[in-house]
Amino acid sequence: MLVVMDAGHGGYDAGAVNGDRKEKDDNLRMTMAIGRTLQSCGVDVLYTRETDIFIPLIDRSIISNNAGADLFVSIHRNSNVNPAANGFEVHVYTNPSMKSIELANNIIREVGTVGVQTVRGVQQSNFSVLRNTVAPAVLVEANFISNAEDNLLFDTYFSDLVENISAGILDTLGVSCGDIGIGGGGGGTVGGGPNVDTIRNIQRTLNNNYGTGLVVDGLWGPASRRALIRGLQVELNKYGAGLIVDGLWGPRTKSAVRNLRRGDRGNLVYLLQVALYIKGYRTALDGIFGEDTERVVKEFQRSRGLSVDGIAGPATFEKAFN
Ligand SMILES: [Zn+2]
Repeated sequence: MLVVMDAGHGGYDAGAVNGDRKEKDDNLRMTMAIGRTLQSCGVDVLYTRETDIFIPLIDRSIISNNAGADLFVSIHRNSNVNPAANGFEVHVYTNPSMKSIELANNIIREVGTVGVQTVRGVQQSNFSVLRNTVAPAVLVEANFISNAEDNLLFDTYFSDLVENISAGILDTLGVSCGDIGIGGGGGGTVGGGPNVDTIRNIQRTLNNNYGTGLVVDGLWGPASRRALIRGLQVELNKYGAGLIVDGLWGPRTKSAVRNLRRGDRGNLVYLLQVALYIKGYRTALDGIFGEDTERVVKEFQRSRGLSVDGIAGPATFEKAFN
């Protein structure tokens, strides 16, 4: 079975842009993550692009048609001049095949409301990649790049979105694959993104320990991020750091960070584990810096271009908390 994964735009075609954020980059990141998930489930994947290059629309269909793909999935971010517009939708052609409708419905169902403000459902569109591709084809608009909350959801629930879109594709292929996308509720093992119940627990813990007054809604937003940094500042002050507990990351907080390493335990370790978890690194949130946490810290340091020593100091904290 072969799925063609198509990252929208690329090269000089940035797609929609919001500040420094370019649609082409989000598209590629999500496309590659879905592709890797499908491959881990034994499905062959062909990418129309794997780097930041321009590919004409018609060539994307030709790549799929020449390869005899079973399904074609194009990944985009939506955009609107009205910054309030938000949500997740999947497009099929104006004269869609039954299989493409099935694929679109499966993706919408699996994704559900995890990482999604508004379920906009399946829409029919006369897009080139839908019109010219022989295989059943859909175009996913994964949240609006023009909406701040949608971007936050895209980042926070990235792994859940990847996993659940992948589950919709696998459903359509009739491939069952482990824990992926069960019930659209996240919490699978591939990708390791935040899950709503875990975030609720974190919010509760922050409220209990630091009086942060978060709404326990399972949604990791700016208030939760700030509460996490407040917690860090409170903990560092126990060592005489004398920080203002304002929940804002700055050079004073950074320089007050204490090195955490294997064998350490306590609230600082917990807060580090939470910060890494939110960044998509799955680790126990138990306040114990064991083998597992050390491995995750190393993985994180590698991904952020830090020296990979497994000791979490100011530089690692800055990447994890800021
Ligand atoms: Zn686009």
